[in-house]
Amino acid sequence: MSGKSLILKPGRDKSVLHRHPWIYSGAVGQVNGNPQPGDTVEVRNASGDWLGRAAYSPASQIRARLWTWDADEAVNEDYFRARIEKALALRRAVVSPGETDSYRLIHGESDGLPGLVVDRYADWLVVQILSAGIELRRDLLVGLLADLTGVENIYERSDVDVRQLEGLPDRTGVLRGAPPPNPLWIHEHGLTFAVDLATGQKTGFYLDQRANRRRVGQLAAGRSVLNCFSYSGGFSLYALRGGAANVLSVDASAEALELGRQNLAANALPAEKTEWLQGDVFHVLRDLRDRARKFDLIVLDPPKFAPTAAQAEKAARGYKDINLLAFKLLNPGGLLATFSCSGGISAELFQKIVAGAALDAGVNACILDLLRQGADHPVALNFPEGAYLKGIICQV
Ligand code: SAH
Repeated sequence: MSGKSLILKPGRDKSVLHRHPWIYSGAVGQVNGNPQPGDTVEVRNASGDWLGRAAYSPASQIRARLWTWDADEAVNEDYFRARIEKALALRRAVVSPGETDSYRLIHGESDGLPGLVVDRYADWLVVQILSAGIELRRDLLVGLLADLTGVENIYERSDVDVRQLEGLPDRTGVLRGAPPPNPLWIHEHGLTFAVDLATGQKTGFYLDQRANRRRVGQLAAGRSVLNCFSYSGGFSLYALRGGAANVLSVDASAEALELGRQNLAANALPAEKTEWLQGDVFHVLRDLRDRARKFDLIVLDPPKFAPTAAQAEKAARGYKDINLLAFKLLNPGGLLATFSCSGGISAELFQKIVAGAALDAGVNACILDLLRQGADHPVALNFPEGAYLKGIICQV
C-alpha cells in the first residue's frame, strides 16, 4: 500500500462503517507514509479494505477525523466549496433574515467539516479552528468563505481549550478585511445586542439560545424573573420585552453585566424594572433562599459543567444543586427554564437530574417544553455528540 494511510486494529472499524467522523488513537493499528498534522490519510480496516479519507491529528486522542466515506470524493478545494455551499443552503432554509442577522454558518462535524465553526455576526464572520485538518487549510477556507458568503470581514477566535488537545496554539485576530468594531451591534428577533467579537465569550454571543430566549420572553408577562448566568442579558431583555414585572440578572463576570446594561439602554427597555448582580450563582441562590425571596420565572443557563462524559458525575451534582435551589425560590405556578450545554450530560440524564431536584425541593412540576439548540446548530445523525444543548421549561 502506497501513500499516507491509517490502518485500524482488527475489529475497530465499526464506528467508521457507521460514518462516525472520529477515529480514536486506541483504534489505530498502524500509520504509514509519515503523515504530518492535518494531512489526508486513507483509512483502511485491518484486512486492508478502504473505508474513508480522514485528516490526521497526531497530537490528539481523536487521531483522525473523517472527511468522506466515498472513494470517488477527493479532499480538495472543490470538496470544501461543496461542503460550505451545502451549509449555506441549510442556513437559508432555517434562518429567515427578518429573524436575525447573526447565526451559526458552519457547525463542525454536523456540516461535514470536523473542527470548523463559523458564526456570522451582521457583516462579520468569526472563524474557530479546532482540528489539525482545518488548521492546515486555514487560508483556503477563509478564501472560500469570503467568496461564497460575500462577507468581507473575517475574524479568527481560535482561543479555546480544546485546541491544546490538538497540539495547536491559540490564535486570534483579523483574517480578512477590517478589525471588528467594539461593540458590534447585532439584531435578533427585533432586539439589538452589543457583541465584542475579539474578547466576548464563545465567539461573542450565545447564538444557540436564540429560539429559547424568544420562548422564555413569550412566557414572561407579569412575572418576576430571575435570570441566572445571564451573560449580556439575553434572556433578561426578552423577558422585559415580554412584559416581565421585574428582572434580576446574575453573572460572575463584570464585563458580561456591563454589556447587559448597554443592551438594556440600546433597546429602550425599562431600566427601573431591572437589577444586575455580580456573583456566584451557587452562592446567590442560597442567599436569595435565606432572604425568602420568591420569583415567578427562573432561568438557569450555566456554562458547560461537563465537557466530556468523564466529568458527568461532578457536573450532575452541580446541576442538581442549582435546580433544587431554583425550585425552592419559585412561587406556586412559577416556571423554571433550565439548560445544560454539557456534551457529557444526555437529555435523558438532564431530565432525571431536574426531576430529582424537584423531588428534593418538595415540589411537583410538569414539563411545558423540551428545548434544544437552534436549527442553525444542526446535529448530524451520525454524530449524536453534536446535540449538546438541552433545556426544559417546567411549571410548579
Ligand atoms: N444565557 C446567556 C448565556 C450564558 S453563558 C445568553 O443567553 O446569552 C454562561 C454565563 O455564566 C457566562 O456569562 C459566565 O460568565 C457565567 N458564569 C459562569 N460560572 C458562573 C457562576 N458560578 N456564577 C455566576 N455566573 C457564572
